[in-house]
This record gives sequence, structure tokens and C-alpha cells, in this order.
Amino acid sequence: MAPAKLLEAVKEYSPKTDLETVELAYDFAAKAHEGQKRASGEPYINHSVETAITLAKLRLPENMIVAGLMHDVPEDTPVTLEDIEKEFGEDVASMVAGITKLGKIKYRGMERYVENLRKMFVAMASDIRVILIKFADRLHNLSTLDALPSRKRVRIALESLEIYAPIANRLGMGMMQGKLEDLSFKYVYPKEYAWVSGLVKDRYRAKERYLKKVGEKIEAELVKNRIKTLDIHGRMKHLYSLYKKLLKYDRNLDKIYDLAALRVIVPSVADCYATLGIIHQMWKPLKGRIKDYIAQPKPNGYQSLHTTIFCDDGEIVEVQIRTEQMHEEAEYGIAAHWHYVEEGKESPEAVNQQIAWVKDLIKLQQESLKDKGHLIESFEKLKIDVFQKRIFVFTPSGDVIDLPEDATPVDFAYAIHSDIGDRCTAARINNEIAPLDARLYSGDMCEIVVDKNRKGPNADWLKFVKTHHAKDRIRLYAKKKRLS
Ligand code: MN
Repeated sequence: MAPAKLLEAVKEYSPKTDLETVELAYDFAAKAHEGQKRASGEPYINHSVETAITLAKLRLPENMIVAGLMHDVPEDTPVTLEDIEKEFGEDVASMVAGITKLGKIKYRGMERYVENLRKMFVAMASDIRVILIKFADRLHNLSTLDALPSRKRVRIALESLEIYAPIANRLGMGMMQGKLEDLSFKYVYPKEYAWVSGLVKDRYRAKERYLKKVGEKIEAELVKNRIKTLDIHGRMKHLYSLYKKLLKYDRNLDKIYDLAALRVIVPSVADCYATLGIIHQMWKPLKGRIKDYIAQPKPNGYQSLHTTIFCDDGEIVEVQIRTEQMHEEAEYGIAAHWHYVEEGKESPEAVNQQIAWVKDLIKLQQESLKDKGHLIESFEKLKIDVFQKRIFVFTPSGDVIDLPEDATPVDFAYAIHSDIGDRCTAARINNEIAPLDARLYSGDMCEIVVDKNRKGPNADWLKFVKTHHAKDRIRLYAKKKRLS
């Protein structure tokens, strides 16, 4: 018997899914995983069930829920893909095959970042549903990280933060991105996490109470104007996105205006604009903070009207006004489109358009094999969030090394190999001699001159290196030297 919470989630969120098929899939997966335990000691099948529940809650269709239950079967049990195909059909089996392939990609630090992304994009373009199942799988893995050894914990969390979350963002899946980031944040930057969560704990509670009152006032005013309020709720900023914003604003919480926001969901676009007008009559808007993302959506498709108002008692409140469809798209992104196609509200064309950018990327990848400079130019044109603040520098043999913005030849040398970093003495950038603290740009070709007799790095390099890896190595050497 499948657990009741799985059946209930399917009934509520994916009503077209056949419960009997879910039962069969559950029995099949439970039997395959029989006797296996998670690191936490609980039965392995619990993980498969949690993955399937997340997929159901994204309101995804039957085959994806079945594939979710099945997703670790070929990798970890004697049951094969052929067995799955025989029982549940080719579509389910092909998704499970995709997940199994993705599972083989291991995150090995920044130097493998682009390669990882490339593989992920290839997997996505062939079937983007695979990525959605992978997200659901990862969400449960992140929530059970405490059972793992600390090295593994950090690797999984870092990979989620740097690869999965940006892709969720690019697919418009705001809620998924927020969850992936907040669950990882704690493990990747434990001190910063403690700082941010401590900072807002009390404030979030107070804000929630305050927003409730403001919401009631707005709703009353909308009733007078015959606008139906479908939903009105407060949302607190996710901790990781707050953290990133704090870094931009001198770590000053008072400069963050969207710490808490009030969301007003109304039936139509016309109602959105009318609501904005009504709110501006009630309270004065802050200059330069009115944003019309309905007329001009964000690159990932996000739509809403935003305004920031001086509210009662001088409190500053951000209000986000949107239709129900805009809200669903902001939270669920591409998963919402899947749902609309299932319901017959949207043609499959729209979903295909959503993933067109992935396909563009594959094309670019293939072209790039011929012309690497072209690749970088095209990435910049596509404005992929994932690649923001990273630069791509070539070795003389044509390998791409990705580095943070403002990185130097020393960072580059360490990214190739620790020994090359330790012994570098000079650099040539685009065939010209350059100092070791020169600034590298995307598309540069960099060559490192190594002195075999050099004993180790210069502690002065700490003043300009940008990567953690370079800093760690240089510090390590300086410490050793002091001790000897
Ligand atoms: Mn799994």
C-alpha cells in the first residue's frame, strides 16, 4: 500500500493521475528497494515517496510522478530500465534513464562547473522533465543532509546552490529556487546563515502581523471599488536572496525595502492596474520604486506590478500585484505551463517556447567547438543568469577555465593546478607579457610561466587573488613557512 500522504497529494494536486497506477508504481519501487536504508537509517523508499509528493505538488502529470517513484531504481537495485519499460512504458523509462545519467555527474569544484552545466543542459534539452524530477530528488536530499558526513554535505549543498538553483531561476521556478537556496545556504555558509536568520527572526514575525493589517485595509478598499480579491498574503524574503542583497547594501537591513512584501492577487490585468491606483490613493508611493513587469516582463518571464508605499506609522511596504496565472507562473515557472497543457488551457507550443533557450544553448555549444570566442559572445547575448559574474579564460591549448570577475593570472594558474599556482613567476595574456596581478577578461588567452626552482607562492599575492582556492594555498604555504 502506498503511503496515504502520497495518495492525498496526488488526489489534491494531480487529479488526473490514476491512483491505481501510483499504487502499482509504489509497490514496484518498494519491492526493488526492499531492505535498503538511507544514511539516516530510514527505509530507502521514503526518499522516492517524498520525491513523488513534491512532483505531485507541482501538479505534474502521472508519468512524472511514476518516474519520481522509480528514479533511483536502476542505479541502486538489480531491477533494470528494461524492467521499468515493460511495466510502465517507454516514456517513464526514458525519464528514469535521464535521471540515472544525470546522477553520474559529480560536482568537483568550479573548474568543472561549465562541464557540469553543459551536461545538464544536454539532458534538459532532450527532456526538460528530467530536470524537474532531479529538483524534487535534490530537495529531499537537502532536507536530509544532516545524516551525511560533512564533506559530502557541503559538496551537495554547493552544487545545489551554484548549479541547480540558477537553473530553477532560469526556468522561472521561484519557489523551487528559494527552497534549494535556503536549504543549501545553511551548509555552504553556516556562519552567514546564522547571522542572517538571527537578524530577521523577530522582524519577520512583527512584519507578518503588520502586513496582515495592511492587507485587510486594502481588501476593504477593493471591495468598495468592486474588485474581487482572490488572495492577499505576506511573503518574507528567502534568507539566501536576502543575504545576497545585504552584501550589495553594506550589510544594512534598513536599506532592503522588499524584506517583506504584500501580494495581492486579482482576477484580470485591468484589475491589477486599478488596484495599483487604489493603493496609491491610500498611501504615498516611494519614488522610482514603481515597476511594471506586466508590460515589461523580466527575462525569465516574471510578471507583476511592484510598488513600495509609505504605509501607516511610516512603515515602508512593497506591494506586488498580479493575476492568478502570473502568480502560479512566478512560483512554479515551467511546471505551471506543463499543468496548463495538461488542462488543455495552453498549447504545447508555449512550453516548447519556454525551453527554446536551452536548445539555443546546445546549438551554441556545438558551434563553440569550432570557435570559442563566439561562444562567450553568445552567452553574453543570452544573458544567462548562471554565467553572471564569471569570466571564461582560455589556456594556450584551448581549454576554458571559468573564474570570478576580476580574477588574475595567479587565480588562473591555481585553477589549472595547485603546483602551477605555487610556482608561477610570470604570465602572458594574449601573447603579451603581463604582471601576475593583471585583470583577466572573458575571452583572454592566458599562459603561465613556471619556475621549477621556485619554493612557493608569495604572501603578497593575497592582496589581489580572487578565488578561494588560490587564497587557501597561499595561506597554507605561509603558515608552513612560519612553522618551519
Ligand atoms: Mn534520489
